[in-house]
Amino acid sequence: MQGWGDAGLTALAAAASLGAMWDSLWINARLATMTAGTPFGLIDRGAVGLSAGRIVWLGDMVALPAAPVALARVVHDAHSKVMTPGLVDCHTHIVYVGDGLSDFEILTRGGTRADMLAAGGGILGLAMRTRRAEPERIAAESRKRVARLVAAGVTTMESKSGAGLDLETELTTMRISRQLGRELPLTVVSTYLGAHAIAPEYRDRLDDYVEFMARTVLPAAMREGLVDAVDGFCDAWGYSPQQMTRLFEAATAHGLPVKLHAEQYRDFGAAEVVARFRGLSADHLEYIGEPAIRAMAEAGTVATLLPGANWTLGETKRPPVALLRRHGVPIALATNCNPVSSPTTSPTMMMNMGCRMFGLTTEEALAAFTRVGAQALGLQASRGTIEIGKVADLALWDVEKPGELAASIADNPCLAVIKGGTVIYRASEPSFEAATHGQA
Ligand SMILES: [Zn+2]
Repeated sequence: MQGWGDAGLTALAAAASLGAMWDSLWINARLATMTAGTPFGLIDRGAVGLSAGRIVWLGDMVALPAAPVALARVVHDAHSKVMTPGLVDCHTHIVYVGDGLSDFEILTRGGTRADMLAAGGGILGLAMRTRRAEPERIAAESRKRVARLVAAGVTTMESKSGAGLDLETELTTMRISRQLGRELPLTVVSTYLGAHAIAPEYRDRLDDYVEFMARTVLPAAMREGLVDAVDGFCDAWGYSPQQMTRLFEAATAHGLPVKLHAEQYRDFGAAEVVARFRGLSADHLEYIGEPAIRAMAEAGTVATLLPGANWTLGETKRPPVALLRRHGVPIALATNCNPVSSPTTSPTMMMNMGCRMFGLTTEEALAAFTRVGAQALGLQASRGTIEIGKVADLALWDVEKPGELAASIADNPCLAVIKGGTVIYRASEPSFEAATHGQA
């Protein structure tokens, strides 16, 4: 282990003779537990003990029940760096092929999302090329992005379908989401988003497509165990509140939670629909009004804000953060990783944008990617904070104060990622040296 140290070998010998209690122990960590009460839930000179994939001890170093080497088989020294819960990215469209360059260039020439669609791009362009692609290629391209998320501190990710719209491609992309979760490894929540856009085959028969999703795709995905939640795009150029209600009734019949892309371009009644189903989250929310915010507060629905899309699409309307706060609606942030409107795998950049564009505090921004992000996926009982009993998903950062994570632009200060107690990523300098032959 480089830089941040590892007393592993010494600890192994000592622990073997003493009968260690824990699999591993991190010492000298500035623990941002993200539990409520104190700012960032900070334990300044903290230690955290991990066993069988869970957090089994945490507290001030001085409260450790014995010398570190006597407590765990491996002891890691965090050298006073900040350790947070593993980040939770609760809104991504990360499984797809190709790039969004032609869409981006339309935006750089002053075009809009409608111009992208008119040029055969946008979500439909994405769907057409993903339909044509071999599953291996979709998986290979998506794996690179997911690996970048892991290297940026993410241990739990939501992955939406919706990059195919037809039965076969939707099932393929959801299988890939499951596969990537096993391979990387990270926890993947797979969301069925057939209602992402209007499939060209159904352009004039939207109600038929809603029935196709409810009666054909969703049951097929359920039979394969591919889906954990159902989402849609509820807007004048997407699905109506009535159509989403029909799809959500089907989801509920399968015992699935729901969420919704809501009020991104106008106040359309979408957030009320998701609140009526006591949904996990309503996402975007630039144009949400106070009655819908009140409904979300009563339903316990999280507001997931997506500054990457707001930025890329050149929107000037911002979500009403002060109103959300006033009504006690928890605020999550996410990368919204997708090639059209939010081509990023940088949670810390989204934290920065959340602060500077939407007015979040640095603590709210980190909570948005940890405690509240977990709540937006229904995983708050097991993830999102550093607490005894929770899954041992952690991230170690090259910063001294947790607020720094949101303060820098497009940096990735992630030093290490711990998933279920195991270090799955550690930062290292890339090498570009080619092999050399002959004389030295
Ligand atoms: Zn989205």
